[in-house]
Amino acid sequence: MGVLIAGGGVAGLAAGWRLAEAGMTDFALLELEDSTGGNARSGHNAISAYPLGAHYLPVPNREAKALRHMLRQFGIMTGEAPDGAPIYDPYQLCADLEERLLWHGGWQEGLFPQTGLSAADRAQRSAFDRAMDEFRSAAGADGRPAFAIPMAFSSTDPRFTALDTISFAHWLDQKGWSSTPLRAYLRYCCRDDYGTEPEQVSAWAGVHYFAARRGWAANGDGDRELTWPEGNARLAGLMAGRIRSAIRTGHSVFRVERDGDAVLVDSFDHARQRSTRIRARCAILAMPHFVSARLMPSQTPAGSFSYAPWIVANVSVSRQPRGKGVPLAWDNVSAGSDSLGYVVATHQSSGAGDGPTVLTWYMPLSRQSPQEARRIMLSRPLQAWQAVVRDDVLTMNPDLADAIERIDIWQWGHAMIRPVPGFLSDPVRRTAASSPPPILYAHSDLSGLSLFEEAHHRGIVAAEAAMAHVAHPFESLI
Ligand SMILES: Cc1cc2nc3c(=O)[nH]c(=O)nc-3n(C[C@H](O)[C@H](O)[C@H](O)COP(=O)(O)OP(=O)(O)OC[C@H]3O[C@@H](n4cnc5c(N)ncnc54)[C@H](O)[C@@H]3O)c2cc1C
Repeated sequence: MGVLIAGGGVAGLAAGWRLAEAGMTDFALLELEDSTGGNARSGHNAISAYPLGAHYLPVPNREAKALRHMLRQFGIMTGEAPDGAPIYDPYQLCADLEERLLWHGGWQEGLFPQTGLSAADRAQRSAFDRAMDEFRSAAGADGRPAFAIPMAFSSTDPRFTALDTISFAHWLDQKGWSSTPLRAYLRYCCRDDYGTEPEQVSAWAGVHYFAARRGWAANGDGDRELTWPEGNARLAGLMAGRIRSAIRTGHSVFRVERDGDAVLVDSFDHARQRSTRIRARCAILAMPHFVSARLMPSQTPAGSFSYAPWIVANVSVSRQPRGKGVPLAWDNVSAGSDSLGYVVATHQSSGAGDGPTVLTWYMPLSRQSPQEARRIMLSRPLQAWQAVVRDDVLTMNPDLADAIERIDIWQWGHAMIRPVPGFLSDPVRRTAASSPPPILYAHSDLSGLSLFEEAHHRGIVAAEAAMAHVAHPFESLI
Protein backbone atom coordinates (compact mmCIF):
# COMPACT_ATOMS: atom_id res chain seq x y z
CA MET A 1 0.00 0.00 0.00
CA GLY A 2 1.11 3.56 -0.66
CA VAL A 3 -0.04 5.50 2.40
CA LEU A 4 -1.73 4.29 5.59
CA ILE A 5 -3.46 6.93 7.72
CA ALA A 6 -4.05 5.94 11.36
CA GLY A 7 -6.82 8.04 12.96
CA GLY A 8 -9.90 9.57 11.35
CA GLY A 9 -10.29 12.88 13.18
CA VAL A 10 -10.01 16.17 11.31
CA ALA A 11 -6.24 15.74 10.77
CA GLY A 12 -6.52 12.20 9.37
CA LEU A 13 -9.51 13.07 7.21
CA ALA A 14 -7.74 16.19 5.90
CA ALA A 15 -4.75 14.02 5.00
CA GLY A 16 -7.04 11.62 3.13
CA TRP A 17 -8.87 14.49 1.43
CA ARG A 18 -5.52 15.92 0.30
CA LEU A 19 -4.37 12.59 -1.15
CA ALA A 20 -7.68 12.19 -3.00
CA GLU A 21 -7.43 15.78 -4.28
CA ALA A 22 -4.11 14.90 -5.86
CA GLY A 23 -5.65 11.85 -7.53
CA MET A 24 -4.08 9.29 -5.24
CA THR A 25 -6.12 6.15 -4.58
CA ASP A 26 -3.57 3.83 -3.05
CA PHE A 27 -4.24 4.67 0.60
CA ALA A 28 -6.42 3.60 3.53
CA LEU A 29 -7.55 5.25 6.76
CA LEU A 30 -7.99 3.19 9.94
CA GLU A 31 -10.17 4.62 12.71
CA LEU A 32 -10.75 2.94 16.06
CA GLU A 33 -14.27 4.29 16.61
CA ASP A 34 -17.32 3.20 14.61
CA SER A 35 -17.42 6.57 12.90
CA THR A 36 -14.84 9.12 11.83
CA GLY A 37 -14.63 12.74 13.00
CA GLY A 38 -12.83 12.36 16.36
CA ASN A 39 -13.55 15.43 18.51
CA ALA A 40 -15.71 16.75 15.68
CA ARG A 41 -18.29 13.94 15.84
CA SER A 42 -22.01 14.58 16.32
CA GLY A 43 -25.18 12.94 17.59
CA HIS A 44 -28.80 13.40 16.61
CA ASN A 45 -32.27 12.81 17.94
CA ALA A 46 -35.82 13.52 16.76
CA ILE A 47 -35.31 17.27 17.32
CA SER A 48 -31.95 17.96 15.67
CA ALA A 49 -28.40 16.94 14.98
CA TYR A 50 -26.00 18.31 17.62
CA PRO A 51 -22.26 18.42 18.26
CA LEU A 52 -20.51 16.10 20.70
CA GLY A 53 -17.44 18.36 20.74
CA ALA A 54 -16.19 20.87 18.16
CA HIS A 55 -18.97 23.17 17.01
CA TYR A 56 -17.60 26.02 14.90
CA LEU A 57 -14.91 27.20 12.53
CA PRO A 58 -14.00 30.89 12.53
CA VAL A 59 -13.65 32.44 9.04
CA PRO A 60 -10.09 31.35 8.18
CA ASN A 61 -7.07 33.60 7.90
CA ARG A 62 -5.41 34.45 4.59
CA GLU A 63 -2.59 32.01 5.39
CA ALA A 64 -4.99 29.01 5.61
CA LYS A 65 -4.78 28.38 1.85
CA ALA A 66 -5.52 24.65 1.81
CA LEU A 67 -8.51 25.08 4.09
CA ARG A 68 -9.94 27.79 1.85
CA HIS A 69 -9.48 25.53 -1.16
CA MET A 70 -11.48 22.84 0.62
CA LEU A 71 -14.24 25.19 1.80
CA ARG A 72 -14.61 26.39 -1.80
CA GLN A 73 -14.91 22.83 -3.01
CA PHE A 74 -17.58 22.07 -0.39
CA GLY A 75 -19.64 25.15 -1.35
CA ILE A 76 -19.10 26.81 2.04
CA MET A 77 -17.05 29.49 0.36
CA THR A 78 -19.08 30.47 -2.71
CA GLY A 79 -16.78 32.82 -4.61
CA GLU A 80 -14.41 35.76 -4.46
CA ALA A 81 -15.01 39.50 -4.43
CA PRO A 82 -13.18 41.54 -7.13
CA ASP A 83 -10.31 42.14 -4.66
CA GLY A 84 -9.96 38.37 -4.15
CA ALA A 85 -11.55 38.30 -0.69
CA PRO A 86 -13.50 35.07 -0.15
CA ILE A 87 -17.29 35.18 -0.05
CA TYR A 88 -18.91 32.75 2.38
CA ASP A 89 -22.38 31.24 2.12
CA PRO A 90 -24.49 33.44 4.43
CA TYR A 91 -26.53 30.42 5.53
CA GLN A 92 -23.41 28.74 6.91
CA LEU A 93 -22.14 31.84 8.72
CA CYS A 94 -23.52 32.04 12.25
CA ALA A 95 -26.85 33.87 12.18
CA ASP A 96 -27.61 36.77 14.53
CA LEU A 97 -27.49 36.84 17.54
CA GLU A 98 -24.09 35.18 17.82
CA GLU A 99 -23.30 35.55 21.53
CA ARG A 100 -24.98 36.74 24.71
CA LEU A 101 -23.87 36.95 28.33
CA LEU A 102 -25.95 36.57 31.48
CA TRP A 103 -24.65 39.41 33.65
CA HIS A 104 -26.27 40.94 36.72
CA GLY A 105 -29.57 39.16 36.08
CA GLY A 106 -30.05 40.05 32.42
CA TRP A 107 -28.83 38.86 29.04
CA GLN A 108 -26.66 41.28 27.05
CA GLU A 109 -25.04 40.98 23.62
CA GLY A 110 -21.38 39.89 23.45
CA LEU A 111 -19.30 38.10 26.06
CA PHE A 112 -17.76 41.05 27.90
CA PRO A 113 -19.93 42.90 30.46
CA GLN A 114 -21.22 46.26 29.26
CA THR A 115 -22.62 47.59 32.53
CA GLY A 116 -21.50 47.88 36.14
CA LEU A 117 -17.87 48.47 35.17
CA SER A 118 -15.56 50.86 37.00
CA ALA A 119 -13.40 53.39 35.16
CA ALA A 120 -10.40 51.16 35.91
CA ASP A 121 -12.20 48.13 34.39
CA ARG A 122 -12.86 50.08 31.20
CA ALA A 123 -9.33 51.48 31.02
CA GLN A 124 -7.76 48.04 31.48
CA ARG A 125 -10.04 46.49 28.87
CA SER A 126 -9.04 49.19 26.38
CA ALA A 127 -5.35 48.78 27.19
CA PHE A 128 -5.65 45.01 26.71
CA ASP A 129 -7.44 45.45 23.36
CA ARG A 130 -4.79 47.91 22.16
CA ALA A 131 -2.02 45.49 23.07
CA MET A 132 -3.78 42.68 21.16
CA ASP A 133 -4.25 44.96 18.12
CA GLU A 134 -0.53 45.67 18.15
CA PHE A 135 0.31 41.98 18.32
CA ARG A 136 -2.21 41.28 15.56
CA SER A 137 -0.42 43.55 13.12
CA ALA A 138 3.12 42.85 14.35
CA ALA A 139 5.69 40.90 12.33
CA GLY A 140 8.93 39.31 13.48
CA ALA A 141 12.48 39.80 12.20
CA ASP A 142 11.76 36.81 9.92
CA GLY A 143 8.98 38.80 8.20
CA ARG A 144 6.26 36.46 9.47
CA PRO A 145 3.20 37.57 11.41
CA ALA A 146 3.83 37.48 15.15
CA PHE A 147 0.83 35.12 15.54
CA ALA A 148 -0.74 33.10 12.74
CA ILE A 149 -3.31 30.34 12.18
CA PRO A 150 -2.06 27.74 11.33
CA MET A 151 0.43 28.50 14.11
CA ALA A 152 3.29 26.99 12.07
CA PHE A 153 3.26 30.24 10.03
CA SER A 154 3.89 32.35 13.15
CA SER A 155 7.13 34.22 13.61
CA THR A 156 9.92 32.50 15.51
CA ASP A 157 11.27 35.87 16.61
CA PRO A 158 12.26 35.53 20.30
CA ARG A 159 10.43 38.83 20.91
CA PHE A 160 7.22 36.78 20.64
CA THR A 161 8.28 33.23 21.42
CA ALA A 162 9.67 34.38 24.79
CA LEU A 163 6.01 34.57 25.81
CA ASP A 164 6.08 30.76 25.85
CA THR A 165 8.27 30.78 28.96
CA ILE A 166 5.70 32.27 31.36
CA SER A 167 2.03 31.74 32.08
CA PHE A 168 -0.67 34.01 30.65
CA ALA A 169 -1.78 34.91 34.21
CA HIS A 170 1.78 35.91 35.13
CA TRP A 171 2.07 38.06 32.01
CA LEU A 172 -1.25 39.78 32.77
CA ASP A 173 -0.02 40.43 36.33
CA GLN A 174 3.17 41.96 34.95
CA LYS A 175 1.05 44.30 32.84
CA GLY A 176 -0.98 45.30 35.89
CA TRP A 177 -4.24 44.03 34.37
CA SER A 178 -6.05 42.87 37.47
CA SER A 179 -9.60 44.08 36.71
CA THR A 180 -12.02 41.35 37.89
CA PRO A 181 -14.34 41.46 34.83
CA LEU A 182 -11.34 41.50 32.48
CA ARG A 183 -9.67 38.55 34.21
CA ALA A 184 -12.98 36.63 34.28
CA TYR A 185 -13.40 37.19 30.55
CA LEU A 186 -9.82 36.11 29.79
CA ARG A 187 -10.31 33.03 31.97
CA TYR A 188 -13.42 32.19 29.95
CA CYS A 189 -11.40 32.49 26.71
CA CYS A 190 -8.55 30.27 27.93
CA ARG A 191 -10.98 27.62 29.11
CA ASP A 192 -13.01 27.90 25.91
CA ASP A 193 -10.13 27.23 23.51
CA TYR A 194 -7.68 25.35 25.71
CA GLY A 195 -9.81 23.84 28.50
CA THR A 196 -7.18 25.25 30.83
CA GLU A 197 -6.83 28.04 33.42
CA PRO A 198 -4.79 31.18 32.55
CA GLU A 199 -2.31 30.13 35.27
CA GLN A 200 -1.45 27.01 33.24
CA VAL A 201 -1.66 28.40 29.69
CA SER A 202 1.49 29.96 28.25
CA ALA A 203 1.39 33.72 27.60
CA TRP A 204 2.14 32.87 23.95
CA ALA A 205 -1.04 30.77 23.68
CA GLY A 206 -3.04 33.35 25.66
CA VAL A 207 -2.03 36.14 23.28
CA HIS A 208 -2.44 33.85 20.26
CA TYR A 209 -6.15 33.48 21.09
CA PHE A 210 -6.66 37.23 20.56
CA ALA A 211 -3.91 38.24 18.14
CA ALA A 212 -3.80 35.42 15.58
CA ARG A 213 -7.26 35.78 14.05
CA ARG A 214 -7.39 37.91 10.92
CA GLY A 215 -10.31 36.23 9.18
CA TRP A 216 -10.20 37.06 5.45
CA ALA A 217 -13.62 37.54 3.88
CA ALA A 218 -15.65 39.93 1.74
CA ASN A 219 -18.69 41.82 3.10
CA GLY A 220 -17.05 42.48 6.47
CA ASP A 221 -17.49 38.81 7.42
CA GLY A 222 -13.90 38.32 8.62
CA ASP A 223 -14.88 38.23 12.31
CA ARG A 224 -17.68 35.74 11.88
CA GLU A 225 -17.94 32.02 12.47
CA LEU A 226 -19.15 29.11 10.37
CA THR A 227 -21.43 26.72 12.18
CA TRP A 228 -23.97 23.96 11.57
CA PRO A 229 -26.49 22.09 13.76
CA GLU A 230 -24.07 19.16 14.03
CA GLY A 231 -21.07 21.49 14.52
CA ASN A 232 -17.78 20.61 12.83
CA ALA A 233 -19.13 17.13 12.09
CA ARG A 234 -20.43 18.84 8.93
CA LEU A 235 -16.86 19.42 7.77
CA ALA A 236 -15.64 16.02 8.97
CA GLY A 237 -18.54 14.36 7.12
CA LEU A 238 -17.77 16.20 3.89
CA MET A 239 -14.12 15.14 4.05
CA ALA A 240 -15.08 11.54 4.87
CA GLY A 241 -17.55 11.55 1.98
CA ARG A 242 -14.69 12.34 -0.41
CA ILE A 243 -12.64 9.28 0.69
CA ARG A 244 -15.42 6.89 1.76
CA SER A 245 -13.96 3.78 0.09
CA ALA A 246 -10.61 4.24 1.84
CA ILE A 247 -12.05 4.38 5.37
CA ARG A 248 -12.09 1.37 7.69
CA THR A 249 -13.78 2.16 11.00
CA GLY A 250 -13.63 -0.14 14.03
CA HIS A 251 -9.89 -0.68 13.52
CA SER A 252 -7.52 0.11 16.40
CA VAL A 253 -3.91 0.58 15.38
CA PHE A 254 -1.78 -0.90 18.15
CA ARG A 255 1.76 -1.17 16.74
CA VAL A 256 3.82 0.66 14.15
CA GLU A 257 7.26 -0.51 13.15
CA ARG A 258 9.80 0.61 10.62
CA ASP A 259 10.58 -2.07 8.02
CA GLY A 260 13.45 -0.98 5.83
CA ASP A 261 12.21 2.04 3.91
CA ALA A 262 8.56 1.09 4.61
CA VAL A 263 6.32 0.74 7.68
CA LEU A 264 4.45 -2.17 9.23
CA VAL A 265 1.13 -1.16 10.82
CA ASP A 266 -0.71 -3.64 13.05
CA SER A 267 -4.36 -3.07 13.79
CA PHE A 268 -7.20 -4.90 15.50
CA ASP A 269 -10.45 -5.30 13.55
CA HIS A 270 -13.21 -5.02 16.18
CA ALA A 271 -15.92 -6.73 14.10
CA ARG A 272 -13.83 -9.72 13.01
CA GLN A 273 -11.94 -9.85 16.32
CA ARG A 274 -8.63 -10.31 14.59
CA SER A 275 -5.41 -8.47 13.98
CA THR A 276 -4.04 -7.58 10.58
CA ARG A 277 -0.72 -6.25 9.39
CA ILE A 278 -0.39 -3.75 6.56
CA ARG A 279 2.91 -2.86 4.92
CA ALA A 280 2.81 0.72 3.68
CA ARG A 281 5.40 2.87 1.98
CA CYS A 282 4.42 5.64 4.35
CA ALA A 283 2.29 5.96 7.51
CA ILE A 284 0.57 9.08 8.83
CA LEU A 285 -0.15 8.82 12.56
CA ALA A 286 -3.15 11.13 12.96
CA MET A 287 -4.03 10.19 16.51
CA PRO A 288 -3.35 12.04 19.77
CA HIS A 289 0.32 12.04 20.72
CA PHE A 290 -0.28 10.09 23.95
CA VAL A 291 -1.58 7.26 21.73
CA SER A 292 1.10 7.40 19.02
CA ALA A 293 3.78 7.42 21.76
CA ARG A 294 2.53 3.95 22.76
CA LEU A 295 2.60 2.50 19.26
CA MET A 296 6.38 2.84 19.02
CA PRO A 297 7.45 3.29 22.65
CA SER A 298 11.15 3.03 21.86
CA GLN A 299 11.00 5.86 19.33
CA THR A 300 8.31 8.28 20.46
CA PRO A 301 8.81 9.88 23.87
CA ALA A 302 5.71 11.26 25.56
CA GLY A 303 7.20 14.76 26.10
CA SER A 304 5.25 17.43 27.98
CA PHE A 305 1.96 16.69 26.22
CA SER A 306 -0.92 16.98 28.68
CA TYR A 307 -4.65 16.95 28.05
CA ALA A 308 -7.65 18.84 29.42
CA PRO A 309 -10.75 16.76 30.24
CA TRP A 310 -14.18 18.11 29.23
CA ILE A 311 -17.82 17.28 29.89
CA VAL A 312 -20.26 17.96 27.06
CA ALA A 313 -24.01 17.56 27.56
CA ASN A 314 -26.78 17.66 24.99
CA VAL A 315 -29.92 18.91 26.67
CA SER A 316 -33.16 18.35 24.76
CA VAL A 317 -35.78 20.95 25.66
CA SER A 318 -39.40 21.23 24.54
CA ARG A 319 -39.15 24.97 23.90
CA GLN A 320 -36.49 27.61 23.27
CA PRO A 321 -34.83 29.27 26.29
CA ARG A 322 -35.80 32.87 27.02
CA GLY A 323 -34.70 35.35 29.70
CA LYS A 324 -34.61 39.07 30.47
CA GLY A 325 -32.61 41.19 28.03
CA VAL A 326 -31.50 40.38 24.48
CA PRO A 327 -33.07 37.33 22.79
CA LEU A 328 -31.59 33.85 22.54
CA ALA A 329 -28.21 33.71 20.79
CA TRP A 330 -26.27 30.82 19.24
CA ASP A 331 -23.76 30.89 22.13
CA ASN A 332 -25.18 31.65 25.59
CA VAL A 333 -22.79 32.14 28.51
CA SER A 334 -23.32 32.99 32.19
CA ALA A 335 -20.75 35.18 33.94
CA GLY A 336 -21.68 33.45 37.19
CA SER A 337 -21.14 29.85 36.10
CA ASP A 338 -18.13 27.57 35.92
CA SER A 339 -19.56 26.06 32.73
CA LEU A 340 -19.05 27.74 29.36
CA GLY A 341 -22.81 27.86 28.77
CA TYR A 342 -24.57 26.34 25.79
CA VAL A 343 -24.93 26.63 22.01
CA VAL A 344 -28.30 26.11 20.34
CA ALA A 345 -28.41 23.35 17.71
CA THR A 346 -31.38 24.77 15.78
CA HIS A 347 -30.01 28.33 15.69
CA GLN A 348 -29.20 28.18 11.96
CA SER A 349 -32.68 27.06 10.92
CA SER A 350 -35.04 29.99 10.61
CA GLY A 351 -38.09 27.73 11.00
CA ALA A 352 -37.19 26.67 14.56
CA GLY A 353 -39.52 29.32 16.09
CA ASP A 354 -40.27 28.65 19.73
CA GLY A 355 -40.29 24.88 19.27
CA PRO A 356 -38.07 22.17 20.76
CA THR A 357 -34.32 22.38 20.48
CA VAL A 358 -31.08 20.84 21.74
CA LEU A 359 -28.68 22.86 23.89
CA THR A 360 -25.07 21.71 23.74
CA TRP A 361 -23.54 22.53 27.13
CA TYR A 362 -19.79 22.65 27.73
CA MET A 363 -17.53 22.47 30.78
CA PRO A 364 -13.76 21.88 30.88
CA LEU A 365 -12.69 20.38 34.22
CA SER A 366 -9.88 22.88 34.62
CA ARG A 367 -9.94 23.57 38.37
CA GLN A 368 -8.15 20.30 39.19
CA SER A 369 -5.07 18.72 37.63
CA PRO A 370 -6.07 16.74 34.50
CA GLN A 371 -5.36 13.46 36.31
CA GLU A 372 -7.54 14.40 39.28
CA ALA A 373 -10.29 15.69 36.97
CA ARG A 374 -10.29 12.41 35.01
CA ARG A 375 -10.58 10.51 38.28
CA ILE A 376 -13.62 12.63 39.24
CA MET A 377 -15.03 12.20 35.75
CA LEU A 378 -14.89 8.43 35.99
CA SER A 379 -16.09 8.08 39.57
CA ARG A 380 -19.13 10.38 39.36
CA PRO A 381 -22.24 8.51 38.14
CA LEU A 382 -24.29 9.61 35.14
CA GLN A 383 -27.17 10.92 37.30
CA ALA A 384 -24.75 13.16 39.21
CA TRP A 385 -23.45 14.71 35.98
CA GLN A 386 -26.99 15.14 34.71
CA ALA A 387 -27.83 16.96 37.98
CA VAL A 388 -24.82 19.29 37.53
CA VAL A 389 -25.95 20.13 34.00
CA ARG A 390 -29.63 20.53 34.93
CA ASP A 391 -28.79 22.86 37.86
CA ASP A 392 -26.52 24.98 35.71
CA VAL A 393 -28.98 25.28 32.80
CA LEU A 394 -31.85 26.12 35.17
CA THR A 395 -29.78 28.73 37.00
CA MET A 396 -29.20 30.40 33.63
CA ASN A 397 -32.74 29.76 32.38
CA PRO A 398 -35.31 29.19 35.16
CA ASP A 399 -37.88 29.46 32.34
CA LEU A 400 -36.86 25.90 31.28
CA ALA A 401 -37.97 24.34 34.60
CA ASP A 402 -40.58 22.06 33.01
CA ALA A 403 -39.01 21.91 29.54
CA ILE A 404 -35.96 19.63 29.95
CA GLU A 405 -36.74 16.29 28.31
CA ARG A 406 -33.40 14.52 28.44
CA ILE A 407 -29.74 15.12 29.15
CA ASP A 408 -27.09 13.11 27.30
CA ILE A 409 -23.60 13.29 28.76
CA TRP A 410 -20.36 12.87 26.81
CA GLN A 411 -17.07 12.58 28.69
CA TRP A 412 -13.87 13.58 26.90
CA GLY A 413 -11.03 12.31 29.13
CA HIS A 414 -8.22 13.65 26.93
CA ALA A 415 -10.19 16.30 25.06
CA MET A 416 -7.59 18.90 24.22
CA ILE A 417 -3.86 19.43 24.26
CA ARG A 418 -2.92 22.02 26.93
CA PRO A 419 -0.57 24.75 25.66
CA VAL A 420 1.34 24.98 28.94
CA PRO A 421 4.42 27.22 29.31
CA GLY A 422 7.36 25.68 27.46
CA PHE A 423 5.25 23.50 25.17
CA LEU A 424 6.14 25.53 22.07
CA SER A 425 9.83 24.77 22.55
CA ASP A 426 9.33 21.17 23.73
CA PRO A 427 11.85 19.15 21.65
CA VAL A 428 9.43 16.19 21.53
CA ARG A 429 6.78 18.39 19.91
CA ARG A 430 9.30 19.80 17.44
CA THR A 431 10.70 16.39 16.55
CA ALA A 432 7.25 14.89 15.98
CA ALA A 433 6.15 17.89 13.91
CA SER A 434 9.15 17.60 11.59
CA SER A 435 9.49 13.82 11.55
CA PRO A 436 10.56 12.59 8.08
CA PRO A 437 8.84 9.83 6.06
CA PRO A 438 8.11 6.99 6.17
CA ILE A 439 6.53 7.74 9.60
CA LEU A 440 4.75 11.09 9.74
CA TYR A 441 2.69 12.62 12.53
CA ALA A 442 -0.44 14.66 11.98
CA HIS A 443 -2.62 15.86 14.84
CA SER A 444 -3.65 19.18 16.35
CA ASP A 445 -1.54 18.13 19.39
CA LEU A 446 1.54 19.06 17.37
CA SER A 447 0.36 22.68 17.30
CA GLY A 448 -0.39 22.74 21.02
CA LEU A 449 -3.70 24.38 20.01
CA SER A 450 -6.76 22.20 19.61
CA LEU A 451 -8.34 23.96 16.65
CA PHE A 452 -9.87 22.77 13.39
CA GLU A 453 -7.42 24.85 11.35
CA GLU A 454 -4.46 23.30 13.18
CA ALA A 455 -5.68 19.73 12.71
CA HIS A 456 -6.42 20.43 9.06
CA HIS A 457 -2.99 21.97 8.44
CA ARG A 458 -1.19 19.06 10.09
CA GLY A 459 -3.11 16.63 7.89
CA ILE A 460 -2.30 18.55 4.70
CA VAL A 461 1.42 18.87 5.54
CA ALA A 462 1.70 15.15 6.30
CA ALA A 463 -0.20 14.15 3.14
CA GLU A 464 2.04 16.29 0.95
CA ALA A 465 5.17 14.89 2.63
CA ALA A 466 3.80 11.38 2.03
CA MET A 467 3.12 12.09 -1.64
CA ALA A 468 6.61 13.49 -2.11
CA HIS A 469 7.98 10.32 -0.48
CA VAL A 470 6.05 7.92 -2.71
CA ALA A 471 6.71 10.14 -5.77
CA HIS A 472 3.06 10.92 -6.45
CA PRO A 473 2.86 14.21 -8.36
CA PHE A 474 1.01 17.14 -6.76
CA GLU A 475 0.99 20.91 -6.60
CA SER A 476 1.35 22.11 -3.03
CA LEU A 477 -1.64 23.79 -1.38
CA ILE A 478 0.43 25.06 1.53
C1 LIG B 1 -15.44 19.54 23.70
C2 LIG B 1 -14.63 20.06 22.56
C3 LIG B 1 -15.05 21.19 21.86
C4 LIG B 1 -14.28 21.67 20.79
N1 LIG B 1 -14.74 22.74 20.08
C5 LIG B 1 -14.05 23.17 19.00
C6 LIG B 1 -14.59 24.16 18.13
O1 LIG B 1 -15.72 24.59 18.32
N2 LIG B 1 -13.84 24.58 17.07
C7 LIG B 1 -12.59 24.06 16.85
O2 LIG B 1 -11.92 24.49 15.90
N3 LIG B 1 -12.08 23.10 17.63
C8 LIG B 1 -12.78 22.63 18.68
N4 LIG B 1 -12.30 21.58 19.42
C9 LIG B 1 -10.96 21.07 19.12
C10 LIG B 1 -10.91 19.82 18.22
O3 LIG B 1 -10.17 18.93 19.00
C11 LIG B 1 -10.18 20.09 16.91
O4 LIG B 1 -10.86 21.13 16.20
C12 LIG B 1 -10.07 18.90 15.96
O5 LIG B 1 -11.33 18.33 15.75
C13 LIG B 1 -9.02 17.88 16.40
O6 LIG B 1 -8.81 16.96 15.35
P1 LIG B 1 -7.59 15.95 15.36
O7 LIG B 1 -7.66 15.15 14.13
O8 LIG B 1 -6.33 16.71 15.62
O9 LIG B 1 -7.81 15.04 16.64
P2 LIG B 1 -8.90 14.00 17.15
O10 LIG B 1 -10.24 14.58 17.05
O11 LIG B 1 -8.37 13.60 18.49
O12 LIG B 1 -8.79 12.77 16.16
C14 LIG B 1 -7.96 11.66 16.39
C15 LIG B 1 -8.63 10.41 15.84
O13 LIG B 1 -7.76 9.30 16.00
C16 LIG B 1 -8.53 8.19 16.42
N5 LIG B 1 -7.64 7.24 17.11
C17 LIG B 1 -7.07 7.37 18.32
N6 LIG B 1 -6.34 6.30 18.59
C18 LIG B 1 -6.42 5.46 17.53
C19 LIG B 1 -5.87 4.19 17.22
N7 LIG B 1 -5.07 3.53 18.09
N8 LIG B 1 -6.18 3.63 16.03
C20 LIG B 1 -6.98 4.25 15.14
N9 LIG B 1 -7.54 5.46 15.39
C21 LIG B 1 -7.25 6.07 16.57
C22 LIG B 1 -9.57 8.81 17.34
O14 LIG B 1 -10.68 7.96 17.56
C23 LIG B 1 -9.94 10.07 16.55
O15 LIG B 1 -10.96 9.84 15.61
C24 LIG B 1 -13.06 21.05 20.46
C25 LIG B 1 -12.65 19.91 21.15
C26 LIG B 1 -13.43 19.40 22.18
C27 LIG B 1 -12.98 18.17 22.89
